[in-house]
Amino acid sequence: MDLNTRVVILLTLISFSLVGLHRTGVMNTYFNVLDTKHLHSYRTSDDGSSNSKLSLHQNFVEMECYIENLNYHRFCELDIMLTNNKTRGLNLSEYKNLIVGVEYITPDTSDNDLPIRIYFRNYNAQYSNLSDVTSSKYNSVQFEPNKQIESSKIPLSALQVSTWWIEQHKIDFNNAQVDLSNVTSVEFSTAYLSDVGTYKIRLNQFQLQGELISEANLLRALLILWLLSTIYLINHQRRILQKISNIDPLTQALNRRGLNAWMQKYFTDKASYSKVCMLYIDIDDFKTINDTYGHLIGDKLLQKFCQITQEEVNLYFEKYKKNTNVLARLSGDEFALVLVNVSDNQIIDIAECLLTRFTKEIFIDDIFLKINASIGIAKGEDIHTATPINLMEHADAAMYHSKNNGKNQFKIYGQDIENTIVLRKKISNALTHAINHNEFSLVFMPIYLNNLEISSVEVLLRSTSSKLKNIGPDQFIPIAEEYGLIKTIDLWVLEETFKLIAQHTELVNKHDLQFCINISSVELTNSAFPSQVEKLLARYQILANQIELEVTETSLINIDENCIDILNQLKTLGVNLSLDDFGTGYTAFNQLVSYPIDTIKIDRTFVGKINNTTESDSTMVDIILGIAQSYQLKVIAEGVETQYQCDYLRKKNCDGLQGYHLSKPIEWCDVIKLLNHQKHLDSVACSTL
Ligand code: C2E
Ligand code: CA
Ligand code: CA
Repeated sequence: MDLNTRVVILLTLISFSLVGLHRTGVMNTYFNVLDTKHLHSYRTSDDGSSNSKLSLHQNFVEMECYIENLNYHRFCELDIMLTNNKTRGLNLSEYKNLIVGVEYITPDTSDNDLPIRIYFRNYNAQYSNLSDVTSSKYNSVQFEPNKQIESSKIPLSALQVSTWWIEQHKIDFNNAQVDLSNVTSVEFSTAYLSDVGTYKIRLNQFQLQGELISEANLLRALLILWLLSTIYLINHQRRILQKISNIDPLTQALNRRGLNAWMQKYFTDKASYSKVCMLYIDIDDFKTINDTYGHLIGDKLLQKFCQITQEEVNLYFEKYKKNTNVLARLSGDEFALVLVNVSDNQIIDIAECLLTRFTKEIFIDDIFLKINASIGIAKGEDIHTATPINLMEHADAAMYHSKNNGKNQFKIYGQDIENTIVLRKKISNALTHAINHNEFSLVFMPIYLNNLEISSVEVLLRSTSSKLKNIGPDQFIPIAEEYGLIKTIDLWVLEETFKLIAQHTELVNKHDLQFCINISSVELTNSAFPSQVEKLLARYQILANQIELEVTETSLINIDENCIDILNQLKTLGVNLSLDDFGTGYTAFNQLVSYPIDTIKIDRTFVGKINNTTESDSTMVDIILGIAQSYQLKVIAEGVETQYQCDYLRKKNCDGLQGYHLSKPIEWCDVIKLLNHQKHLDSVACSTL
């Protein structure tokens, strides 16, 4: 049962019990006037006859008056003095009821006598005059004679101020209200008596009854209790929600939001944030672990990673009495460790400790895993006006640098990274400009069949912009991807190539020329891409089999069903698909069959290892050729730079050859010339095999 339900149940029980108890009278208070403790004295009426007699009994008090002559004595009265100070009485206003047991017996039982009254005499300096007894206020109720009244409960609100008294003392409205705040005495008094004889006033019970707390006040108190509890619960709930929204449920570390909130306290001024340092940690190749062992192990690894990171940091700081640090999971396999007040040496020590610790085996569910991580470090002192977000961006950029530099290392953010970022931003601006001003062109790199006939050309992009001088697609394509410009660029290349084919249909058909067009890995997650290709094919009336789309092998690292679906849709259009830079990714050969590809292009680094020296290493090329042939995939070797490589690959029945040795990327007009002569450049003539 959650806290809310428990509190509501408890409050309901408390409320009903208290109201119930209140109604049963448990909270009543009593003031027994007859109790000798309270009672000061009894008195007969000042006006009473000498024949009056007061008798005190254990259970009752009785006043007996013998009226001899109605001309002299017409009253019988029992006065109870509550104090002996005529001006300072008791405050009875807190009581609610009067409980009275009284008998008034007259000599004549014919009920001619007027009722007996109970007066509470209230002293107030404004109207009371000590020399005149009647000037004390008369708050009264009355009882019929000769009727035994037992435990009669009379609300004190039924008391009234006698009108004769108001008139006699000329009392104003305010003072003519019942007032029980200073009661000096209580009187049981008859009215004018009508018979000669004995009158008796017997008082069996005289109690005032009040409540510890009135029902209205009790309800008010309960209402306040409910309100306070509600406020408490709302606050409690808010705190819980805040905690939940700041915590990563998998690792129980702070999440990005929680980390921001935690860091806010250090980002008030330069002095505070310059003490802060962030280590942005990213597990290397976590995707591969996830794919190999499944998400459950992946999740456990993330938990374990968090645990060992925290342990390592705690261990490091054990010798320092005070240290402030926090670990947060930013997303997937990205973590941030924030340290406060640490020296540069300590930062480096910790980064090294962590990297070493990660490489030790981690045991999860009977599986031994070894991991590496890339760490980027940013220090608040290096940033002019820092916010938690830009500290994170700097650390992220440094981490990116570590990754690109070969992973399993750390890098501290500095001017070099700053320069790279600035340069990338400049290139991205130049690309945007180039897109808007059509400052691109295409070159074509012939791909040769084994018999050295040109079968296809790879379409390669160049920029004519002066701002992108000496910057090739190797450099600007990744930036275009990062800044979201690549989709436009890919479509531009497709459309320009299609236009060109449409203009030279005859030549293209005659030579059965294929165009190999590079597409970014981004397109594999772009569900609109297949239909865009389809529309362009239709618009320029291009035969789909004249087109081969190249995707890099590494773009398949994060492949999922949706990507394969996109590849299948492209395949259904009739275009060919090839896997570029093959060998640089981690594709298991048996995985190849699940991709709808026709061709693999051996990355030029492997071709580059083939030479006529003893250091020649053709292993990878041989393996790829063997496997591809058994899976009936076409193979193109990229980066053929020497005659020896050309000969070697042809001998191994490699289907296609591409490289500077055969032809560099050339202008379209040169492609035409080449095709028309169907001869290779003089320098590339291969020796007879
Ligand atoms: P890639 O797809 O592997 O293209 C081949 C690259 O290798 C080309 O560089 C080409 O000039 C170079 N190359 C070919 N043979 C040799 C050789 O024997 N020796 C040497 N050293 N290099 C050789 P380029 O044109 O600079 O293109 C670089 C990369 O940029 C391409 O690699 C491709 O990934 C990307 N790219 C080029 N054009 C486009 C495009 O239109 N769209 C997209 N998305 N990417 C493109
Ligand atoms: Ca390519
Ligand atoms: Ca390539």
